[in-house]
Formats: sequence, structure tokens, C-alpha cells
Amino acid sequence: MQPWFDPSLLFINGTWRACASGETLPVINPSTGEEFARIARGGGADVDAAVEAASAALAGPWGALTAAERGRILLRLSHLVLDHAEALAEMEATDVGKPLTQAKADVIALARYCEFYGGAADKLTGQTIPFQQGYTVYTLREPHGVTGHIIPWNYPMQIIGRSIGAALATGNACVLKPAEDACLTALAFADLAHQAGLPAGALNVVPGLGTEAGAALTAHPDVRHLSFTGSVATGKRVQIAAAENIVPVTLELGGKSPQIVFADADLDKALPFLVNAGIQNAGQTCSAGSRILVQREIHDQLAARLSAEISALTIAPAMEDARLGPLVSARQKAIVEGFLAQATPDQILAQASVPEGLPEGGNYVAPTLIGNIAPDHPLAQNEIFGPVQVLIPFDDEDDAVQIANGTKYGLVASVWSADGGRQMRLAKRLHAGQVFLNNYGAAGGVELPFGGVGHSGHGREKGFEAMYAFTTLKTVAAHHG
Ligand code: NDP
Repeated sequence: MQPWFDPSLLFINGTWRACASGETLPVINPSTGEEFARIARGGGADVDAAVEAASAALAGPWGALTAAERGRILLRLSHLVLDHAEALAEMEATDVGKPLTQAKADVIALARYCEFYGGAADKLTGQTIPFQQGYTVYTLREPHGVTGHIIPWNYPMQIIGRSIGAALATGNACVLKPAEDACLTALAFADLAHQAGLPAGALNVVPGLGTEAGAALTAHPDVRHLSFTGSVATGKRVQIAAAENIVPVTLELGGKSPQIVFADADLDKALPFLVNAGIQNAGQTCSAGSRILVQREIHDQLAARLSAEISALTIAPAMEDARLGPLVSARQKAIVEGFLAQATPDQILAQASVPEGLPEGGNYVAPTLIGNIAPDHPLAQNEIFGPVQVLIPFDDEDDAVQIANGTKYGLVASVWSADGGRQMRLAKRLHAGQVFLNNYGAAGGVELPFGGVGHSGHGREKGFEAMYAFTTLKTVAAHHG
């Protein structure tokens, strides 16, 4: 699979160009370990050029558009994304190893973000505020200016959609630094945005290393907002860089999200969600339901049913579209295997097998269910970011809440129970940015505000809430007597 554009170039000011250093980095197919393309190794000079182009766009044609005109561009872009669905899905599957069905779902989500924010662009309004005699007071929602977007490799298209979609709808000009392991669909998106009529400079893409292009973007004094999705360690660096320039930052840093199953739950309904929330995208999901908390009286029953499901999961190269593809990189595989090595044999309740004959260079890891584990064990506390779930028993509601809230994270939680009162009580008591009652993830829910508490980060993306994050509020007080 080769992209329809030259992936070794940067997209700056509406045109393709080589990076200042002229250096490139390999693009590896995680299903085979083979190099199939090169991307630019963008650096500080390229980020400078991208920010300059974005600033000029704000002062020029992009800044002059009405909200409705911005929205129409995003709606056209949504259609163009769908027109290129097959190519985008194959590109993503080859680049990051996600099974084709998942890659196609990501394309649909990207189109839906463009549709949602295209429709929302001219719906964001200010307020009039009753004040003293002789005054009229109102508020204006204004773009920050140049926004910096640092996205990871696990859901590139979805995260581009939620972040760039909201930023463009509200009139910002964006500089995007995709993860070095996942640049292709970001470049494709910029090309399609240009085809949709986005003025030059409104969206610029600078691939490269996080420590070079990423760090340069976070440190740039003309970037007025930063949004970051990724690890806690890098998130801290981004927040420190943002503090240096006093700019707001949205951080989405993953989690160790609990799925809480009470004895009165409908297990037939819950089971597919419980498994899928852990193994979707080979577990490389910020909102993965990686901790399954089960009421003790049904522990053995659920353990047996989960084990049967997990042992039967299929693994294959991304284009063969099994339930799991490879992990994104050899590095990520080593991280996950390092975690698995911490489990004793009696803690491995179930493990699928990696079939023989898969390409040797692929980063395949068998999905695994771990049990007989204390809630404070490192495997039950840390984000593994692979297809590994832990099963932990609890006694009652209080116990469930204590275990569920007992990590440093707080991104998502789910409650499986037939008791409506219990659902409401837990929805209030759980530390999480999203709580799902008798479901998990609400099928991605482009419309639903998303973000975390604690080490899962702060700020909200998705839905209308992101439009507030990507704007600053100005109060105008007119004294007219
Ligand atoms: P990182 O947090 O390091 O990477 C996320 C993004 O940040 C990438 O675009 C990366 O670029 C960029 N980046 C890296 N260093 C800097 C820097 N100093 N300044 C600015 N940007 C930077 O995650 P990793 O890819 O290293 O993955 C490690 C772990 O992070 C995973 O095992 C997982 O636990 C977690 N993670 C969580 C994600 C989530 O959705 N919450 C997503 C991805 C990872 P580049 O990749 O080019 O270095």
C-alpha cells in the first residue's frame, strides 16, 4: 500500500515541501516488520515555518472567513474523507497494524468529527449579561490563534478528528505533530482538507520525532493552545512547556479504566463489551477497560466465560482483519511483554495463542486475562497498553468503588447492574471523565465530552465542550448612559 502523496514531505502553508534537514525516518509495517515508506524528520526550523504559515493564515484568508464558511469546509472535508475511505483504512492498517475493520471504523469516526464540527461551527454563541443601568455587556468566543496538536499512534484519525475538527471549527490555525509511528493518515488528512478548500496555512503537518518536532512545537512562543494525547511522562513535559509560555493545555493521558460487574448484571449482554473494551486495537486504547471488577459470588462464572472468549480470539496481520493485529512497534511489544513477565503462572487465567506462520518481524502479543491479583499489584495499577486485562473480585458497592477509584487514573468507568439506584449512586461516586451504565464507550460517541481526572489528564475534547476549550472568552462592557 503506497499513499497517493509523497509521505516524505511536510505539509506547510498548503504545499508539500522537504524538511529543513532533508533527513527522513523509516515507516515500518508492524504486521511484518518491513519498511514500506519514509517520512520527513521535521525539526525546529520546520515548526517555525509551520507556525509562521498558521499566523499568516489567521491574518489572511482563513481569519476572514465566517463561522458558516469554516463549517462548510469541514462538511466538504467529511465527504472527501468518506470518498477516500478504502485508501485511508488500508493506509492506517499498514502503518499502525490495526485490523482493517477497526481502521474503517476510524475513517467513519474522522468523517463524523468533520461533520459534527462542520455543523457546530456557527452554533457557538456568546451571552448577554444583565448589568447596571447604562451598560450593555456581552461575551465573544474567539479562537486562541495558532494551536499545537500532538497526537499519538493508537487512533490517529479519531484524535485528529476530535482535535483538529474542533480547533478549525472555532477559527484557530493548527500545527499538527503526528507520532513518528503514525504519520500517513495525518498527511492524507491535510491533503484532503486542502482539496476541501481549507485556505493555506490553516492546517500544517510536521512529522518528526517527539523530542525534536514535538518539543519545538510545545516550546514555540507563538503557539497559543496545546492539545496532547499520549503518556503521562510526555504529558508532564508538554504541560511544563505550556507553563513557560502561559498557554492553556488539554491533556489526555490514558488510564486503567474499570468495568464493574455486579451479580445482577446481564452477563450475556456484558460479555462482548467486557472483552472488546480490553482487546480493541490490541489493547492500545487510552480508554481500554483493562480492569474487570466482578462481584465475588459470580467471580468463577465470569472468569470461566471470559477465559473461553479470550482464548478463542484470533490474531493476524492487519490486512487479514482478525480480532487483533500486531502492536504498533517492537518497542511497544517489549513494554507489554515486560508487564506480562511480572505475572506468575497461576495468575494467567487465559491466553490466546499467537498462530504459527505469522511474519517473524511482526509485533504480535497474545491477549491475556490475569487473575488472583491484589488491586494494588503493578499489573492492576499501571497502564499496560496491550491486550491484557486483570480480573479482580469485590464484595459490595463500597468495595467496588474503593477498588475502582484506587489508581492514579480516572478516564472511563462502566457499571453493569440491573439496579437503577446502584447505577446512579456509582455514576456519582466513580472518579472518571465518562461513566457508562450497561455499555462501554457508547460506540465512540463523537458528541460526548471526553477527558479525564487525576493522571488521566485534564480538559475535555469531543462534543460541543471542545469548542469551549478551543476558544477564549472576551467580555465587552459598553457604557452608553
Ligand atoms: P508518548 O506520550 O511519548 O507519545 C505521544 C506523542 O507525543 C507522540 O506524537 C510523540 O512523538 C510525542 N512526543 C514524545 N516526546 C515528546 C516531547 N518531548 N515533546 C512533545 N511531544 C513529544 O508515548 P509513546 O509513543 O512513547 O508510548 C509510550 C506509552 O504511552 C504507551 O505504552 C502508553 O502507555 C502511553 N500512550 C498513551 C496514549 C493514550 O492514548 N493516552 C497514546 C500513546 C501512548 P513521537 O512518537 O514521534 O516520539
